[in-house]
Amino acid sequence: MSTENNFDAVIIGAGFAGMYALHKIRGLGFKVKAYERASDVGGTWFWNRYPGARCDVNSLEYSYQFSDELQQEWSWSERYSSQPEILSYAKHVSERFDLRKDIQFETKVTQLEYDENAEVWHGQTDRGEEFTSRIMIMATGCLSKSNTPQFEGLNQFEGQLLHTAQWPHTEVDFAGKDVGVIGTGSSAIQLIPIVADQAKTLTVFQRTANFSIPAHNSDMDKKHEARVKANYKEFRAQNSLQRSAIGMVPNPVSALEVSDEEREQTYEERWSVGGLPFAATFNDLGIDRRANSTAVDFVHRKIKDIVKDEQTADTLCPDTVLGCKRLCVDSNYYETFNRSNVFLVDIKQNPIKNITKDGLVTADKDYKFDSLVLATGFDAMTGALADISITGREKQTLASHWSEGPQNYLGLMVSGFPNMFTITGPGSPSVLSNMIVAIEQHVNFITNLLDFMKQTQRKTVETSEKAETEWVQQVNAIAAQTLYTSGCNSWYLGANIPGKPRIFMPHIGFPTYVEKCNEVAAQDYRGFKFS
Ligand code: NAP
Repeated sequence: MSTENNFDAVIIGAGFAGMYALHKIRGLGFKVKAYERASDVGGTWFWNRYPGARCDVNSLEYSYQFSDELQQEWSWSERYSSQPEILSYAKHVSERFDLRKDIQFETKVTQLEYDENAEVWHGQTDRGEEFTSRIMIMATGCLSKSNTPQFEGLNQFEGQLLHTAQWPHTEVDFAGKDVGVIGTGSSAIQLIPIVADQAKTLTVFQRTANFSIPAHNSDMDKKHEARVKANYKEFRAQNSLQRSAIGMVPNPVSALEVSDEEREQTYEERWSVGGLPFAATFNDLGIDRRANSTAVDFVHRKIKDIVKDEQTADTLCPDTVLGCKRLCVDSNYYETFNRSNVFLVDIKQNPIKNITKDGLVTADKDYKFDSLVLATGFDAMTGALADISITGREKQTLASHWSEGPQNYLGLMVSGFPNMFTITGPGSPSVLSNMIVAIEQHVNFITNLLDFMKQTQRKTVETSEKAETEWVQQVNAIAAQTLYTSGCNSWYLGANIPGKPRIFMPHIGFPTYVEKCNEVAAQDYRGFKFS
């Protein structure tokens, strides 16, 4: 192997995590390279280009804060940014910080093996290339490995088969077509109103009804933008103090301590603001079933007000705890079911038996389509890591180490896998927080640690099994106090993937997590071992 392919650090992924990691690690004077399987930057926003794809975090928050020039010069056109705009932003960042020169696109890292003698990682790509690197940064993303359920006959479908997370780069025209959509998660809920507008007919196959809150998206309020930009630092600092690092104002009141009128009015106010803050209408919705059921009742009434057909409305009413799956945020989702060309099929009642060459068959009926959209989500948080064959110390594989669920310390390091860091992986606030804020915090922690190693001339860092076990226990203990683990089957628990170990993966609470990381760093990186 030529020395050209020997690096101080290799980053896998050039989404928002990989791009910022590249920028920061270059700043340490390291020889660094990023590999990315897509043909451009953007990660999840590169792949999820289905119609209606949009972020559910306010655009003034869902953006980097590491460069004040960047956040001042960029303008978002809407309250919630669309996928094309977020992708343009990612491209802008890559150009502004000249990142592309160190990213190799259309290259998937397939294998990583740790060489204990040389203390380096050996990597292989799907192009047959090899590399070595002292440090590995796994910026592989939480929602990057799409989930295609193994429906019988799927490969026999002769129409247009689409997956929301692998959407074509050319426009898909649904005009005059009969379309089927399987799934009613966030992706489907965004896509359905737009496809309904274009297609001849749209049939939605729902297994579990989801809670969706109106986005009330709008053009960016320029005065609001100017106010935020004038105080961006304070705005970011305030938001980082919130549990999800999102600027939602929590209401410090129990849903059970207010009168029926006050409760109803408070829900109405939140509903009219829209979006994820609905989950923070009262302070006990996430921990008390009785409190939660008041929110469930409110949303059920909203659905029944909006959807005219009684049976369709009933089918759309979720029978789970509100918020134990990520809330969906929509524009005209429930309203779409009032259209005469839109049909809802409850596949819990009548499961899909198989896909045919021109449609699908449920327990009670045959359906025919020109296009079938799988909006069936992701093998979240661990899927992209599991896609790479990773072997650490003593020939132990990550797959075997994680056979009963992901184990790591601070969501950053796995014992037996020296110098390998995960960004926003399981065990960190990650998907329960503003992802870009979480990414920056992780990358800053890692690069500070690498700088500390450089200054103190340490070559290797790893965590211990003890630190890892204690951390996983702590993450689970926090989750057990909430309705996340008992309220429903979610991808947070790995429950959407057959055979995946059921373990609550993200750490709940961004500020407490940051506090913990800061404490660890201040104590010479307690829980990490250096050599
Ligand atoms: P998802 O929430 O996992 O939804 C997948 C849907 O497919 C569910 O309705 C699921 O039903 C259904 N499904 C899966 N396997 C099935 C099977 N074998 N048979 C029938 N139905 C099946 O996936 P997603 O909608 O792509 O969203 C994933 C996450 O991405 C979101 O939670 C969110 O964090 C993120 N996202 C965010 C935005 C945004 O910012 N607004 C937009 C899109 C996605 P069950 O519920 O019964 O499993």
